[in-house]
Amino acid sequence: MNTAANPITREDCALRDQQDPLATFRTEFALPEGLIYLDGNSLGSLPIATHKRLAKMVQEEWGQGLISSWNACDWVNSPQRVGAKIARLLGAEADEVIVADSTSINVFKLLAGALALPSAEGRNVILSERGNFPTDLYMAQGLNEWLGGRYQLKLVEAGQLAAALDRTVAVALVTQVDYRSGYVHDMAALNRQAREMGTHIVWDLSHSAGALPVALTASGAELAVGCGYKYLNGGPGAPAYLYVARSLQAAIRTPLSGWFGHAKPFDFSTDYVAAPGIARMQCGTPSVLAIGALECGIDILNRADMQQLRKKSLALSDLFWQLIESHCGEFKFACVSPRTHAQRGSQLSFAHEHAYAIMQALIDHGVVGDFRQPNLLRFGFAPLYNRYVDIWDAVMVLRDVMKNGTWQVEKYRNKQTVT
Ligand SMILES: *Cc1c(COP(=O)(O)O)cnc(C)c1O
Repeated sequence: MNTAANPITREDCALRDQQDPLATFRTEFALPEGLIYLDGNSLGSLPIATHKRLAKMVQEEWGQGLISSWNACDWVNSPQRVGAKIARLLGAEADEVIVADSTSINVFKLLAGALALPSAEGRNVILSERGNFPTDLYMAQGLNEWLGGRYQLKLVEAGQLAAALDRTVAVALVTQVDYRSGYVHDMAALNRQAREMGTHIVWDLSHSAGALPVALTASGAELAVGCGYKYLNGGPGAPAYLYVARSLQAAIRTPLSGWFGHAKPFDFSTDYVAAPGIARMQCGTPSVLAIGALECGIDILNRADMQQLRKKSLALSDLFWQLIESHCGEFKFACVSPRTHAQRGSQLSFAHEHAYAIMQALIDHGVVGDFRQPNLLRFGFAPLYNRYVDIWDAVMVLRDVMKNGTWQVEKYRNKQTVT
């Protein structure tokens, strides 16, 4: 045990890195020298394999193979192929997940699909959390407007979801891990309740998949979406994925009835007939190069033990928290993330009056996290490439930035477009 009399040292951290069963994964990423990257929950880092893969896809598959590559290089099945690999991270069956579109669009498709199910008949509430990721709420608002404002978008405060999940709910939209606090919902419990209430939950796994073990089948989840460019390391704007449990696949329809979701797209028939299975949830032509990049990120995760990954994630956040308390105590950072392991995702957020300027100063000094409204410094932990010594070094840089008042420099107050 580390105590006040026996504090953690950088050597302790280095020793933990030596004993880390996931340590070698770091060599598979092209990380800039000297940078401590604690923002993999916003944009995952670049797998070295992605360079080669994209070069090959561009030069050979596209450049030389041209249109024949749709068949010869299996471009046409890449949404299913990579979806099946993502399914392994989600505790789902291979034929329940497909890569498609963006997370926002998938939210729209599944919400609309769920609202058209018989279970939604006579119900008028779309339920979500006020603190949910804005795009999820915006898509729900837009969909409801499109439907003539038929539903009440009921937004509850954190911790109030279960109390509001009743028989008025036509569909609930729940992000498993809160993007600000990192709070993790009890997926099995909410699914059980949804089933009892005869409704469906659309889960957003953007901050869960690749960061902690997800068990869609075991927890009784029916519908889910998630993002490809965060912990999955698929690259900026990577395609997203969606999950429909087998039990709902025959019943659900997408409102965006494009030809790639058609049973026989290359029959070029006049009338839309939904494809059987998960394939019907596609809309248009898949983004093949981007799916190739995403696959490289997924292939690495598929080789990692998710239990080990989770264990390291919690160890990294515990260490960060502990070091903030022991070395930055005087600067009054208030952690808004749960202490309880079972409720904590792979990130920590600290409230501070000057959060924005402090984060800008940190980034300028080689520690990348991000700022989230209204006053949060957010640090994400990607166990595949973050080391224990990175945590140590990051906290020491933060301590110096605070001690020296570096953050007070005028330029750190100017807000950039992307925070
Ligand atoms: C990152 C994130 C998204 C992103 O949606 P895009 O359509 O890719 O911009 C959506 N929902 C949640 C919960 C997220 O964390």
